[in-house]
Amino acid sequence: MKFRRTSVLIAAAALTTAGLAACGGGSSSGGGDSLTVGIKYDQPGLGLKEGSTYTGFDVDVAKYVADKLGYKEDQIEWKQAPSPQRETLLQSGQVDMIVATYSITDERKQKVDFAGPYFIAGQDLLVRSDDNAIKGPKDLEGKKLCSVKGSTSASHIHDQYPKVQLQEYDTYSKCAEALANGAVDALTTDNTILAGYAAQPQYKGKLKVAGNTFSEEVYGIGIKKGDKDKCTKINDALKSMVDDGSWDKFVKKNFGPANFKVDESKNPPKPGGNC
Ligand code: GLU
Repeated sequence: MKFRRTSVLIAAAALTTAGLAACGGGSSSGGGDSLTVGIKYDQPGLGLKEGSTYTGFDVDVAKYVADKLGYKEDQIEWKQAPSPQRETLLQSGQVDMIVATYSITDERKQKVDFAGPYFIAGQDLLVRSDDNAIKGPKDLEGKKLCSVKGSTSASHIHDQYPKVQLQEYDTYSKCAEALANGAVDALTTDNTILAGYAAQPQYKGKLKVAGNTFSEEVYGIGIKKGDKDKCTKINDALKSMVDDGSWDKFVKKNFGPANFKVDESKNPPKPGGNC
């Protein structure tokens, strides 16, 4: 009996140690054991986790940047970075960087730094395919609109369209489900994300993107405030990603299947200027 208890305690201690090691994040500069990268887990085409496989534009950008910082793919630890938690994850050191459809804003810049930009998207609406009445946020007065807490998408609606019944969920995938089953009338966030849902097998022919963007979402790579050296290194990596054709390759690979048309008047943006 006594022996059993001891072994349970040892097992618990081992688990705690492993847990702490996993939470410690990687080294913040090159040459460390691992790099912890925050991504989305439920945004097809951008950041998607299926079993132990991670795919999407943000995942490819993160892998490219990690490589330039000296980390091989098996040294990357992926961590889910939901929209409302991103600043906290960076400030607390739980992740080394965030590549998760993360718009650079002045408000966020008070708390974290951004390398980039590496992509420019725009806010749009996802509606049911048989709905021809909702074309933009003005058509949503008195209707139910779903978005995610802590996102620019929700705050734009909150500030500019106060008559819309905004419902803030934890994730966009839950909003897409609510839209498909009729619990809400529309979903708003970046057109990149919406195109990914519209192309998913379970929503194909049922949901469509309105196609009238009403904001500019400038994606940056979030890092802890004050790490100028890391910021510069990431910007250099992003520049070579565009110059060597990788950016184009990642766009085609990840946005092609959803037939998402990249706004070429704005993309690819020139990285730099934020650190
Ligand atoms: N790009 C917007 C943002 O950073 C919306 C998408 C998201 O929540 O990740 O808030």
